[in-house]
Amino acid sequence: MVKVPCKLVTWDDVVNWCKALADKIRESGWIPDVVVAIARGGFVPARLICDYLGIVDLLSVKVEHWIEAATMSPQARIKYEYTIDLTGKKVLIVDDIADTGDSIILTKEFIEKNWKPAEIKVATMQWISSVCKIKPDYYVDEVKEWIWYQYPWTRLEDTTQFIKRFLKEMKDKKVWTYDEIVNTFKEWYGIDVGEWFYKRALEELVKKGVLRKVDDKYEVISV
Ligand code: ADP
Repeated sequence: MVKVPCKLVTWDDVVNWCKALADKIRESGWIPDVVVAIARGGFVPARLICDYLGIVDLLSVKVEHWIEAATMSPQARIKYEYTIDLTGKKVLIVDDIADTGDSIILTKEFIEKNWKPAEIKVATMQWISSVCKIKPDYYVDEVKEWIWYQYPWTRLEDTTQFIKRFLKEMKDKKVWTYDEIVNTFKEWYGIDVGEWFYKRALEELVKKGVLRKVDDKYEVISV
C-alpha cells in the first residue's frame, strides 16, 4: 500500500514541461527582462526557460524553510537578502512547483519591496490548486490531489529522507536487508529510483549514524 503518493519525474518530463511553459509565456505576449529562480527547486526550470525564451539575465533568491518551535508549523524566509535596482524591468519568478505558495509569496513580496521592478509574474511547472495560496500566472499542470513530485534534482536527498522515514515509523524492526529496504521503499512511495540511489542513500545514512552495516545487513542505530 502506497503511503506517500509520488510521481517519478524524468529529465525529459522537465524539458517538455519547460517547453510548454515557455510557449505559454510567449503566446501571452509578455516577455520578461529578468528571470529569478527560487533556490533551489527553480534552478533547472529557470535555466531552461531562459534558453527557450532567449533571456540572458538569470538571478536567484534563496528561500530556506524552518519549523517554528512554538507552533511546529513550517515557515519560509529569505537567506542572503540583497538589494539591486530593477526599475522598469519585467521579472519572471520561476519555481518547480507551487505547493503551499509560501516561498513564492515571500519571494514576490521581497522583490516588489526591495528591487522595485515594473512588473512581476510567476511560472511553475506544477500548481497544487487544492492547497496553494497563490495561482501562478503560468503553469503546465494543475494538480488537484496532493502528490510528491520526485524531481531528478532531489533524487538522492529524497531517497535518503524517504528511507529514514519508514525506518523511523517501523522502528521495532532493528535489522534490515538491502532487499527489504528497497521493497519497503517501493511499497511506501510507489516509485523505483534504481540501485545507484538506494546504495548512495544507505551510505549516507551509515555516515550519519542512522544505520550501521553489519556484514550484508543494516542495523538501525538512531532514527
Ligand atoms: P511554494 O509552494 O511557494 O513553492 P513551499 O514552501 O510549499 O513553496 O515549497 C518549497 C519547495 O519545496 C518547492 O519549491 C519545491 O522545490 C519543494 N516542494 C514542495 N512541495 C513539493 C511537492 N509536492 N513535490 C515536490 N517538491 C515539492
